[in-house]
Amino acid sequence: MVKERTIVETQVGIVGAGPAGLMLSHLLYKAGIDNVVVEVRSHDEIASTHRAGILEAGTVRMLAESGVDGRVLTEGHEHEGTTLRFEGVSHRIDFQKLVGESVWLYPQNEVFVDLAAARKRDGGDVRYEVTDTQISDLTSEQPKILSTTAEGEALEIRCGILVGADGSKGISKRQIPAEVRTDNFIEYPFAWFGILCEAPASAPELIYANSEHGFALISQRSDTVQRMYFQCDPNENVADWDDERIWAELQRRIDGPDGLQLQRGKIFDKTVLPFRSYVCEPLRYGNMFLVGDAGHTVPPTGAKGLNLAFCDVRVLAPAIIDFFDKGDDSGLAEYSAKALERIWKAQNFSYWATNLMHIQPGENPFNQKRRRGEFASITGSDRGSAYFAECYTGWPDQ
Ligand SMILES: Cc1cc2nc3c(=O)[nH]c(=O)nc-3n(C[C@H](O)[C@H](O)[C@H](O)COP(=O)(O)OP(=O)(O)OC[C@H]3O[C@@H](n4cnc5c(N)ncnc54)[C@H](O)[C@@H]3O)c2cc1C
Repeated sequence: MVKERTIVETQVGIVGAGPAGLMLSHLLYKAGIDNVVVEVRSHDEIASTHRAGILEAGTVRMLAESGVDGRVLTEGHEHEGTTLRFEGVSHRIDFQKLVGESVWLYPQNEVFVDLAAARKRDGGDVRYEVTDTQISDLTSEQPKILSTTAEGEALEIRCGILVGADGSKGISKRQIPAEVRTDNFIEYPFAWFGILCEAPASAPELIYANSEHGFALISQRSDTVQRMYFQCDPNENVADWDDERIWAELQRRIDGPDGLQLQRGKIFDKTVLPFRSYVCEPLRYGNMFLVGDAGHTVPPTGAKGLNLAFCDVRVLAPAIIDFFDKGDDSGLAEYSAKALERIWKAQNFSYWATNLMHIQPGENPFNQKRRRGEFASITGSDRGSAYFAECYTGWPDQ
């Protein structure tokens, strides 16, 4: 039974406790800005959802230097490079040598655990397991978030600024009227078949492999759990794939004269991940601002999604702080255009890397030969490799 409505007044109301929502909440708290977060899922459900794994240096710095937790530096693995493997031959891209940066392997669910713990430690108001979230009055000076708490209480959050951090399937962006919103969207004719398995790592760094059989990514999660993907049809049924068939498919996509062999182990998770690129423009409507996947998604090839979510927060947090502390709304006015500059760079890289490494269904053989030239242009010179290295490790903030 729904109990009486509770009204909470706060400076910033945030929908979604993913990495974007919680990082924003943490940075605002540190600057003395009151905020409340509502989240439809439970803490444990988010903590056990496996998604991103590669963090740019800027993302790592935000976690460690803003006082969330330094666990990323002690338990994460620094990768100073990655391997591009084309038709069975590996080429290492040395990030440190080329652009003086690294990335860190640290799973998204651990990022969430650290952020959630920091919000709890600091007395943050994060309401998990809410239902029936609605947002309203976005163009007024007091937007509202309406929802029902886990205890069945009707909750109304009245805020000065509302932030939609509710991911790609969230409600926030859909509240921007169609006449002022542009949905930039493409879908790809393939997907990733992803597995998690109990096995040692097959290589010290990630391997992005293209072969005539399609793409494969040999990634990691920890010393004992590995993440691997291979390109598949978007309608692929995981039930059709037993472990033996999966290992054979992965292995044939990395086979080469060096005899590289995958370390096999018990597969405990299988998913098919569709590929889409999406950008909502603008990322602001009235006093609502979109951050992270709520405003844009990329295919995972370039490992950009979580990192872009943190980049949005790096732009929005100081703008909100200036607005409340100094009455200066110039940062808020610039937020959408500024965040979109980096978003489109990341969209381009994710799109380009996806098309470089995947085989299109029914592809003309011309294209694989052309791709051979494209790979050689990247791996055959420091300048080509540096382009990949800079995009992958993340562009410096402007
Ligand atoms: C398989 C996979 C691999 C990936 N690999 C990488 C990678 O290596 N590197 C990388 O950077 N990115 C990667 N990504 C992308 C990355 O996971 C996302 O970009 C990231 O989660 C975005 O964070 P977010 O906080 O914006 O959104 P989310 O993490 O989606 O969080 C949004 C939250 O809002 C909540 N929510 C939704 N609707 C409501 C509502 N109505 N009310 C309240 N709460 C709501 C959701 O439950 C969710 O917890 C990968 C994604 C997938 C799926």
